[in-house]
Amino acid sequence: MYNLAYLVSIFGVIGLFIIFFLAWMLIRKIDKMKKLQMTVNKLKKALEEMDEQAKLIVRTDMELNKIQEELDKKIIGLYALQKISRAISTTLQENQIFKRIEVDYLQDLGFEKACGFLWSDKENKFIPHLNVGYLIDEIEMISSQIDLDKKLYLNLIKSEKTISSISKLPGAGLGDKINHIFMVKFFVISPILPREGNQGFFFVGTENTDVVLTEGDEELITILSNQIGQVLENARLFEKTWLAHNELEEKVEERTRQVTMALEEVKNVSKRKSDFISSVSHELRTPLTSIKGYAAILLEEKLGSLPQAVKERLAKINRHSDELVQMVNGLLDIARIESGKMTMKIEERDLKDIIDSASDLILIQCKNKDIKLASDIQKDLPRVLADRIQAERIFINLLGNAVKFTPEKGQITIRARKKDDAVQVDIQDTGVGIPPDALPRIFDEFYRVDNPINEQVKGTGLGLSLVRHIIEAHKGKIWVDSKPGKGSTFSFTLPVE
Ligand code: ADP
Repeated sequence: MYNLAYLVSIFGVIGLFIIFFLAWMLIRKIDKMKKLQMTVNKLKKALEEMDEQAKLIVRTDMELNKIQEELDKKIIGLYALQKISRAISTTLQENQIFKRIEVDYLQDLGFEKACGFLWSDKENKFIPHLNVGYLIDEIEMISSQIDLDKKLYLNLIKSEKTISSISKLPGAGLGDKINHIFMVKFFVISPILPREGNQGFFFVGTENTDVVLTEGDEELITILSNQIGQVLENARLFEKTWLAHNELEEKVEERTRQVTMALEEVKNVSKRKSDFISSVSHELRTPLTSIKGYAAILLEEKLGSLPQAVKERLAKINRHSDELVQMVNGLLDIARIESGKMTMKIEERDLKDIIDSASDLILIQCKNKDIKLASDIQKDLPRVLADRIQAERIFINLLGNAVKFTPEKGQITIRARKKDDAVQVDIQDTGVGIPPDALPRIFDEFYRVDNPINEQVKGTGLGLSLVRHIIEAHKGKIWVDSKPGKGSTFSFTLPVE
């Protein structure tokens, strides 16, 4: 009995042990199952995410393809735009600009129809200037439709904005209306806005319903119409400048013709004047010489003694005859130089020699008036090209005037130095000077300043004119600088070789 109880307890313990073991095993299994379930869930989620990503990749790929297509279209469009720009910007003739927009270029832009209209103030309507893809009567029909609705197109130009089938249009049903007028399914219209002359608009369209119009198309057409506007402006400005240039050239030619004719006339008159003076002087000289001769014979009382009063009158006749001879000789010389009949031996001359001999001649007159005669001549002064006798006449006349118009105890200075291709001589005095209003006429024939010295001293008014003629015949220049009461400086140039 005891043994049986013992056995039962042993089996009971073993049984319990097995039950515990089995329970423990079950719990572990359940645990594993739970973990497995979690892993399955995670995998499911990962699978779902992968599916999502795959879909995204496919979507992105499709979008990329679309972008690529659009990019290709844009590149082709840009190429077409570049070709049109090059074609139109190489002309400066307005009527050539639209002719250069070819159908191929427009097709590359995706449009098979295009037209361009410019406003005409004269005709008060839009005039077609470009027609691609339309028959003549079609474009005429479009023109008349535009004319009926010109306000709409004028407003479009005023707004300076591009409109198209994809943009927000200013009026309801306007898109359909434009499609109908221009016989297309999609369109872009952009204003042409040159800053010179009449403006207009540029239309492009297509009948192809497969075409997808984008903002890029709008931009390209806007760039193109801007380009057309710019080229039109250049052509018009060029034409304006060209016309102005031609007009100016014609005017210049006309004026040159007139001046040449006037110059010719002046030359003729001057020649006639010189010839006249020359012959009159010649004619005067002969009777003058005999008047002077007879007066001299009478004065010498070779034909009998004369009363004092007669002798005095005869002396006057003699003096006035001398003055007349002087005047006639002066006139004759001027006329000879003017007509080129004066023979001059122009050679290289030492100016100092000429100045010295003219100074010797004038020295006595200087001494009489206690006038100091000074000279300041540049060392190694180059030789001048001159006729000796005429060059001496220049000095004698200018120095003679300087003495005549300088009061006692004054000073006369002769300066000579090289300047550029000439020698410049200045004859400066401390005399009465010349009033400013007399300066412009001082070298004119017979001109004498109204002053007290001139009232006392006789003169012909021919000396300075003769000097100017001689200097100009030597291709030199003469001018004067003077201040009344202070003195005068007569300056002239003679060329060196
Ligand atoms: P003329 O001496 O015979 O009057 P010119 O032709 O030599 O004629 O001179 C014209 C005028 O120019 C003179 O009358 C005089 O009024 C003025 N003139 C010329 N040289 C001088 C001078 N050195 N100073 C002041 N006046 C002068």
